[in-house]
Amino acid sequence: MTLPTAFFGHGSPLNTLTKNRYSTAWRAYAATLPAPRAILAISAHWYVPGTRVSAAPRPPTIHDFNTNFPPALFDFAYPAPGDADLVERVVELLQPTRVQRDATSWGFDHGAYCILAHLFPQAEIPLVELSIDRTKPAGFHYELAARLAPLRDEGVFIMSSGNVVHNLELADRTADREPYEWARRFDADVRRLLDGREHEALINYQRLGADARLSVPTPEHYLPLLYTAALQRAGERVATIVEGFDFRAGSMLSLSIAA
Ligand code: ZN
Repeated sequence: MTLPTAFFGHGSPLNTLTKNRYSTAWRAYAATLPAPRAILAISAHWYVPGTRVSAAPRPPTIHDFNTNFPPALFDFAYPAPGDADLVERVVELLQPTRVQRDATSWGFDHGAYCILAHLFPQAEIPLVELSIDRTKPAGFHYELAARLAPLRDEGVFIMSSGNVVHNLELADRTADREPYEWARRFDADVRRLLDGREHEALINYQRLGADARLSVPTPEHYLPLLYTAALQRAGERVATIVEGFDFRAGSMLSLSIAA
């Protein structure tokens, strides 16, 4: 059986603990999934030089946000075990790209557990996180991700976590207002390109003009989407898990790809 693969818009770290329409939709989605043997997570928040995998037997929970967040969020732990076999499989599949087995510098960050706290709250399924190499262009990430495709047939749920639109500078927390028009347009453009399997245009998102510049001021929250797009097989459909906007400038679009 081939497991679906999914992209999640994670938004605020507070979504880890909050019951809202996003987290409710993530939980409902998990109920439709066949039980995975293991999970491979690609997070916007492990954006470092080089391609790395979490290789500790029990990776720590990383509280990678500022101290304005409540203590309960700093107390949160996602104690899923690592998976040495999956680490070796990822290293093998990603050749000739050199993958560093990282057992010390990182663990599970909020890009991953913000979602997984709702998908798999028991934290019993082995979990491996894969970094995003910040020195590489978008096309590199797409090609790298495509090499992970066999994992979907090996019981591994591959999930990526970012935000299609992510502009913190223009985020407006003052009121419950409609999203910016450029945010809405870019979000819809991305969704249309995914539906049409127009992956070249997604890779070359910078050519989409001013809407793209405003929606993706830095690449780290957009690149996870390319990991999911690269795993879309011919004939597979894109389904919306949930959509919406936070703070006018953050898309919460989450998508699943399956036959
Ligand atoms: Zn984030």
